[in-house]
Amino acid sequence: MDFTTYLKNYPNEKGYFGEYGGMVIPDVLMPAFEEIAEAYQTICHSSKFISELRRIRKEFQGRPTPVYHCERLSQYCGMAQIYLKREDLNHTGAHKLNHCMGEGLLANYMGKKKLIAETGAGQHGVALATAAAFFGLECEVHMGIVDIEKQAPNVTRMEILGAKVVPVSHGAATLKEAVDSAFEAYAADYENSIYCIGSAVGPHPFPLMVRDFQMVVGVEAREQFIEMTGNLPDAVCACVGGGSNSAGMFTPFVADPVEIYGVEPMGRGEKIGDNAATITFGSKGVLHGFESLLLQDEAGEAAPVYSVASGLDYPSVGPEHAYLHQQGRVNYASVTDEEAIEAFFKLSRMEGIIPALESAHAVAYAMKLAKEMKTGSILVNLSGRGDKDIDYVVEHYGTGEQYMD
Ligand SMILES: *Cc1c(COP(=O)(O)O)cnc(C)c1O
Repeated sequence: MDFTTYLKNYPNEKGYFGEYGGMVIPDVLMPAFEEIAEAYQTICHSSKFISELRRIRKEFQGRPTPVYHCERLSQYCGMAQIYLKREDLNHTGAHKLNHCMGEGLLANYMGKKKLIAETGAGQHGVALATAAAFFGLECEVHMGIVDIEKQAPNVTRMEILGAKVVPVSHGAATLKEAVDSAFEAYAADYENSIYCIGSAVGPHPFPLMVRDFQMVVGVEAREQFIEMTGNLPDAVCACVGGGSNSAGMFTPFVADPVEIYGVEPMGRGEKIGDNAATITFGSKGVLHGFESLLLQDEAGEAAPVYSVASGLDYPSVGPEHAYLHQQGRVNYASVTDEEAIEAFFKLSRMEGIIPALESAHAVAYAMKLAKEMKTGSILVNLSGRGDKDIDYVVEHYGTGEQYMD
């Protein structure tokens, strides 16, 4: 199947990638999500919308971000060559702004005045607050009080950018409760506002829309890589939390003779609650308004998850990944906390790039793959920079001397 045919058929008009996706939401929210789906279907074909988004990407976000050849790291790993797509150099330091700017522009076209979202670690909240400031929109970010305490610098960033952070104190007071609270606020005010999800997850049209907005990563990287080397890479690799940076990176390569690897967090180990490797261990279920694979406890509820990278600890995964896994088009592998930390230090010391702990999972897997492949090339999506993680890393692992040999 060629690339255009894939995009045309996946998802279908109901938002399904094969058996995964859809809109599994209460009736009160149906008109709201249908309005967004309809608006997106119209606007994504509008040349005015496309050229405005292109201008924003160039002038505000600083795109295209470069592709960089890691010569020293490649040499350390053997003969295969590792390249990075530098999303850490995207404005705000990660890929998330790619879809937040798209969502903000959509809100503007729909005449909405307010962006509503939840955030866990605060990365999505900061990206969305940035988009809201750019477009002159109000921004309301729901966040569990446990996370508010843990992620104080991101709460401050959101507030400086003019967003209102709504503390959520019920239940475990983390991401899941924040999602419930944001959905509730949206249901009460969908005429004036738009819900902006943080990854390629949630009810249709979000998995489609976020994938499309993130595809700029893979489209640029594919072109840049061919220009640099004259060929396609042999392998493409990205970390998978909800699955937005990876969907953006992978989709432009689906019809190419390229091996694709999604890297899940194995955390502390294989026991339930010790990882967030949804594709590796999950089974079919529903969470946050869509059907996909889900890490479940014995009662069929979303299981507790853990990863050293807080952006990866989500018990479900975008429906497109569940589908690409089922089709065997993408290989899903996993990396432990310990392996990610080692890659974090190796990349910092050998290349002068401090990666986000999420992105360090993709780097760790690429390093293993490079050793196995011996020849050829691996293009890795470096989804974000690691400034946000340095305090945690130093407290738990020091400055990394033990990882250098
Ligand atoms: C949020 C985040 C991720 C995980 O989200 P996806 O939707 O799976 O891409 C990965 N890397 C960084 C830097 C993040 O902030």
